[in-house]
Amino acid sequence: MKKRILITGAAGFLGSHLCDRFINEGYKVMGMDNLITGNLQNIEHLFSLPDFEFYHHDVTKFVHVSGQLDYILHFASPASPIDYLKIPIQTLKVGAHGTHNLLGLAKDKGARILVASTSEVYGDPTVHPQTESYWGNVNPVGPRGVYDEAKRYQEAITMAYHTYHGVETRIIRIFNTYGPRMRLNDGRVLPAFIGQALRGEDLTVFGDGSQTRSFCYVDDLVEGIYRLLHSNYAGPVNIGNPSEITIREFAEEILKLTGANQKIIYKPLPTDDPKQRQPDITLAKKLLGWEPKVDRKQGLQITYEYFKSLKMDDLYKKEH
Ligand code: NAD
Ligand code: UDP
Repeated sequence: MKKRILITGAAGFLGSHLCDRFINEGYKVMGMDNLITGNLQNIEHLFSLPDFEFYHHDVTKFVHVSGQLDYILHFASPASPIDYLKIPIQTLKVGAHGTHNLLGLAKDKGARILVASTSEVYGDPTVHPQTESYWGNVNPVGPRGVYDEAKRYQEAITMAYHTYHGVETRIIRIFNTYGPRMRLNDGRVLPAFIGQALRGEDLTVFGDGSQTRSFCYVDDLVEGIYRLLHSNYAGPVNIGNPSEITIREFAEEILKLTGANQKIIYKPLPTDDPKQRQPDITLAKKLLGWEPKVDRKQGLQITYEYFKSLKMDDLYKKEH
């Protein structure tokens, strides 16, 4: 008997890759999305498959699923700072009410649920690299608070359902991930830089570019999610690539990759932009035997080929 899994945020960047992975592993996959930041093109190749179903639904409204349900992956949520600043209330609601609805569904069905948390729960971290035992440094009333606090509440309610209702829960703290199917104009740094390089524009580094991030290729992340879902550990687990780079160096890497001869220009740093970020993945290594396999050079090359293959219209479509 095939296992049945519900994936929320299925039409988004990560959700669509998860749909592919679980279909390939022989699961029956139900994708759910309200398309607020997602795109059906990311999953249209799955529509003809008998084991794939899609529901256009907002998970902040009651979520009903008939029949057997074995697993839930809750990935619905705006994820780019520019998105969650534009739709702050929906961001809070999907992390809070959406998560609550899906935990209720998991309890009702006896399903195991994995929720997508984030390195943003560490805020602008004062501990480096970030371990799961660090409680973070978040400004609740700053512009990023709508995302960070929604995710912190998500972790708290998920742990409460585990402790008080005995629901099988998993929490993944995802660090910056990239790859094909990111939206070219979603404002995140990698699509922003590659888009600018392809359009012949200067690359916009925010602040002096000394802030750091650590970028993980999507296939590595999906492998980590797959392993965590099938583990028996309910605490939060960092999944990310520890290879850390400053944003200025990252812009230089993109210029080299694309062969573009534009300049780097500097714009104001957004409020509360974290100064440093690097996952400590000791726990994931020990618990899941997981570590990233794709280095930035390989991952960026694949992602660049994807962006180059897009239609010219997409390249010039301005969303923000
Ligand atoms: P994305 O914007 O590409 O995908 C999110 C999807 O959720 C979209 O398809 C959107 O339409 C859908 N969605 C949003 N609100 C919804 C609602 N109320 N009901 C139903 N669907 C809804 O973003 P992504 O990068 O794929 O991120 C997916 C998840 O992973 C998010 O929960 C995000 O917080 C988390 N995450 C991502 C990263 C990253 O680097 N990509 C890092 C940390 C955490
Ligand atoms: N950033 C930048 N130029 C851009 C977009 C982003 O310098 O055009 C910076 C941003 O200020 C941050 C880093 O790149 O320091 C990563 O930003 P992103 O929005 O991708 O993710 P997050 O801040 O959530 O890690």
